[in-house]
Amino acid sequence: MINRYSYKVKTSMAVSRGVNVVRLAPTSGNALTAFEPGQYVAVSYYRSGRPSPVRCFSLLSVANARGELELGMRTGGLFTTAFTKLAPGDMVSVQGPFGSFTAERNDPSPIVMFAGGIGITPFISMIRSAAAAGFPTPMRLIYSFNVIDAVPFLDELTAYAADSDKFRFRVYGGPAASQFANSNVSSERMAPLIVQQLATNITSGRFFLCGPAGFMSTYGKTLRKAGISSDAIITESFMAIAPGSPKKRFGMLPMAYALTAMAIVLGTLTISGVDLVRYLPAHAESSAPSAPLSAPSDSTSAVDTTSNETVPVSTATPTVSSSSISSSSSSNYSSYYQAPRSSVS
Ligand SMILES: Cc1cc2nc3c(=O)[nH]c(=O)nc-3n(C[C@H](O)[C@H](O)[C@H](O)COP(=O)(O)OP(=O)(O)OC[C@H]3O[C@@H](n4cnc5c(N)ncnc54)[C@H](O)[C@@H]3O)c2cc1C
Repeated sequence: MINRYSYKVKTSMAVSRGVNVVRLAPTSGNALTAFEPGQYVAVSYYRSGRPSPVRCFSLLSVANARGELELGMRTGGLFTTAFTKLAPGDMVSVQGPFGSFTAERNDPSPIVMFAGGIGITPFISMIRSAAAAGFPTPMRLIYSFNVIDAVPFLDELTAYAADSDKFRFRVYGGPAASQFANSNVSSERMAPLIVQQLATNITSGRFFLCGPAGFMSTYGKTLRKAGISSDAIITESFMAIAPGSPKKRFGMLPMAYALTAMAIVLGTLTISGVDLVRYLPAHAESSAPSAPLSAPSDSTSAVDTTSNETVPVSTATPTVSSSSISSSSSSNYSSYYQAPRSSVS
């Protein structure tokens, strides 16, 4: 069963060009108060009283008794532009929590996190949760963010790193990052060599990856090449299909073309077959003048051309029991967009 909650917008604020943080508060006592850091929710808003499409967003916040939630959104498309323009008090529907991009609490091995762009969001929840518990396991964050004006969450991450030597992070921000007087920020770009060196130094640990498809595929492969077992590599894709999922042998489009072609061929064969069957008795009738063609008055008949006997055919309309009609499952954006935890292959 999917849990659905009614929320309203509390605040919506830009934290860098193109990234907004939206805070949501429940409208009643029924709120999402329990979830694991790294999980996500499916949200929709209302336009003229009608719900918008549903989109998934990782939770930035940690679970709290008030049920307040925080989401980080890269704006640009229709949904995110509209959502981040909602005013305080505007209603939002929240479903969830979903996903297994979560760290086992009882596992003492270090956690290494690779974030690409807005892929930082599930890690913020994980880091906040670990910070509240005094970083029970060492955590390391490698954060690639193409800096224009600001690095989202930089001050917060810097404060955690200053408080605990169990948490370390580095931002690879590109040339514009030189504006920050912060030793954790590099104006280099993240590169496979950096990840390879890190993986060589940290041999036992859990490696979490979240970011765009190219990022996941490049660094998933880099980690594997560096000798990290695929079981230790955990990914979250913000796309509908996780790059770590098994390679499809056929793409969706060729598959759709092939199915359409098969349907056309089968349809043509069926129509030809039916025409042939209809034609044959008529042909047999015209060439067999002695056949008894009269039918009993109370039933429709067909001619059995082999025995020349009339065969009664029921005139009743065929009935289809309702249970035999399979009802297609209702459209569910959240399941469409669910990206299960998967290992990079
Ligand atoms: C598990 C998960 C967690 C996510 N967490 C975050 C997050 O924390 N922050 C964030 O900014 N984004 C996150 N996303 C991505 C987010 O759900 C949407 O992709 C994004 O909001 C698209 O909104 P838009 O306004 O840019 O595009 P829209 O204008 O809404 O959509 C543009 C087009 O892209 C298609 N589309 C939209 N989303 C997806 C998708 N996920 N996969 C494939 N096609 C899609 C639509 O069908 C449409 O055709 C997450 C996605 C997933 C699956």
